This record gives sequence, structure tokens and C-alpha cells, in this order.
Amino acid sequence: MAMNLTSRHLFGPGPGNCYPEVTAALAHPVIGHLDPVFLERLDNTCEGLRKVWGTANARTLPLSATGSGGMEAAFVNTVEEGDVAVIAVNGLFGERMCEVARRCGAEVVRVDHPWGQPVDVERVLEAHPHPKVIAAVHAETSTGVLSDVAPLGRMKGDALFIVDAVTSIGGLELLADDWGIDVGYAGTQKCLGVPPGLSPFTVSDRAFERRVKDPRSWYLDIGLLGGYAGAASGSGRTYHHTAPVTMIAGLEAGLDRILNEGLETVWARHRATGAALQAGLQELGLTLFAAEGHRLPSLTTVNVPDGVDSAAVRRYLLENDSIEIGAGVGKFASTLWRIGTMGPNADKSTVTLVLGALEEAIA
Ligand code: PLP
Repeated sequence: MAMNLTSRHLFGPGPGNCYPEVTAALAHPVIGHLDPVFLERLDNTCEGLRKVWGTANARTLPLSATGSGGMEAAFVNTVEEGDVAVIAVNGLFGERMCEVARRCGAEVVRVDHPWGQPVDVERVLEAHPHPKVIAAVHAETSTGVLSDVAPLGRMKGDALFIVDAVTSIGGLELLADDWGIDVGYAGTQKCLGVPPGLSPFTVSDRAFERRVKDPRSWYLDIGLLGGYAGAASGSGRTYHHTAPVTMIAGLEAGLDRILNEGLETVWARHRATGAALQAGLQELGLTLFAAEGHRLPSLTTVNVPDGVDSAAVRRYLLENDSIEIGAGVGKFASTLWRIGTMGPNADKSTVTLVLGALEEAIA
């Protein structure tokens, strides 16, 4: 069968396009997962991840899982039967956290917000006097909302603070230590400019000490994974599972690319692109869904105008311009478009392309 090398402008909610350095690294020969060259690569990757997370946590590693696997790891290691988990829900991924925590046996206290609004810190803190964990999504991909999670981390008291940074890591300011994040999980397919398949994960010492000692998941047990990533304080590497060597080569290349450009420059590039896109969409007469002042630079949600067939426009963009944008989710499936400007797509050329193509598609 002939190889199908279709290339697309991936301007949806993810995966986005990869940095060219990542695509090149993915073509490297496969090497053994205990080869010294690979072990050095894994160390370098963990070090790069510490920088994009904004943490000194020894236990910072690429979990061999997608973002949802990171979410499972966060809860299965922190809550068990009867523990209270206060979860801020302002979109699909907060909802998913509730379901994951429930399956781990937690008593889930949901703090619901209207979709499109940021997390209300006071309501979350008042939801329960002594939760074992408090959890929130930093960048809600389903709604395009950025929440200021730092006050939750600073005022969490005795609770462990879990943050989903899937759509912020590597593109938006993220300061896990300053913000008091105890357990953070993310994904590679958004602002890091790497394919889907790994979950950058970080655990504070405090969370590690208070972890569930015999979690229901063997694969995601952070007590065992520390040795795999070489973080178990000098005890050396132990075999846990066969590391996805090729994906880690890609992630290492993506992190190097971002850190060479400079984190602050990369954040500024994402901010400038998101602002230009959002201004341009409004100039076209379109309206934005996420609350003003809380819009994500990396993912913009647009209200589909009355009388316009949302799916037909997306199909038109794909067929005519090879541009993928996303639909909404849940009850907003046909009333929203989601446009991602992440990683290499956080660039002026994306704005020009999307605005031109969209104007033509809705004319
Ligand atoms: N959390 C957020 C905010 C996401 O955007 C996503 C995926 O888009 C996930 C979690 C789940 O990640 P994955 O689809 O990689 O499992």
C-alpha cells in the first residue's frame, strides 16, 4: 500500500503540528530502553520538563500515557476510598476529573461553574473544610478558558493540589512550585509541539510522602515510577516498563527547541498569536465564547453564527485549505468552533491563514 503522507494545518484543539526538530528526532533509529544513550536522553527530558513545569521536583517525568493517563495517575496516587476530592468543574476536563476520582473511591465534591467562565477560587476553597485533594484545570480546552490557579495552591491548607496543564505546558506561563502545585499532569500534543502519547508529570515531595501506598494501578504507581525515571535519589534506574524510546526522543527535541528559544519568548509568542487571532475574528464580525479577560491564548472558542452549518464549514476548510479546526464539545458541539494556536502554530502565519480561509468559508 502506498504511503499516505497527507499533511494538514492542525489548528484544532490538538494534536497540533510538531516543531520540525521533533519530526526529525522521530526518524532516529530505535535504540534500547536501557542503552546509555537513551538513559541520558531520559535524564535530559526530565530536566527539560522541570523547566517547562517551573519546578525543582525530583519526580518529574514523561509518563508513558496520554493526558488522560496523567489524570488517572494524579488521582489513583492521591485518593482512595472515602477521601474527599474537591474538583472545580468549568468544562469537559473538570467533568472527567470527577469521574476518574470517583472510580478511585473518592467522595467527590464538585464545584460547578458555567462553561466559558474561569474557576472561582473562593467557592472552591469553601466547598469542604478538610479535603484530601483540590483539583482544577489550568487551561480548559473544551471552553477556551484560562483560570488563575495560583491562589488555590497558595490557600489549599493541608490539601494536595492537582492541576491539569495539558493545554498550557510549553506555551503559557506555568510555575508549579510558586503556585503550590503538588501533582501536575499534561500532554505532549499541544503547546509542546510533539505528537500525542506522553504525559509530562510532576509530583512534589509533600504529595509523594502522602501518596496512596498501594494504589489500584500498578502501571501508574508513582512509588514505582520514580525508579524508572531515575528520580529515586541515587538508587539508580530500575526496569518498570519498556520506555517509548521514540516518543521520548521527540519530546526531548521539542523541549530543546522551546528552551533554546527561551520560555518567556515562547509564552509571548503564544500570547501575541492568540490576541491577534481573537482580534481578527471579532473584526470578521464573529463573537468569542470564553469570558473576556480569561481567554486562552493557545485555544480560541468562537460562536458559530446563526444559520451557519458548523460541520460544513469545518469540512470546507479541510477539503479546500487542508486546515483542521475543532468543533465544540457536549451541548456546544455544533455551536462552537475551537481554534488552536499552539507550538509552531503560535505564529502570525496561522492567524493570516485561518482568518482568510474562514472568511471565505462563511461568505
Ligand atoms: N485535559 C485537557 C485540558 C485536555 O485538553 C485533554 C485533551 O485534549 C486531556 C486532559 C486529555 O488528554 P488526552 O486526550 O491526551 O488523553
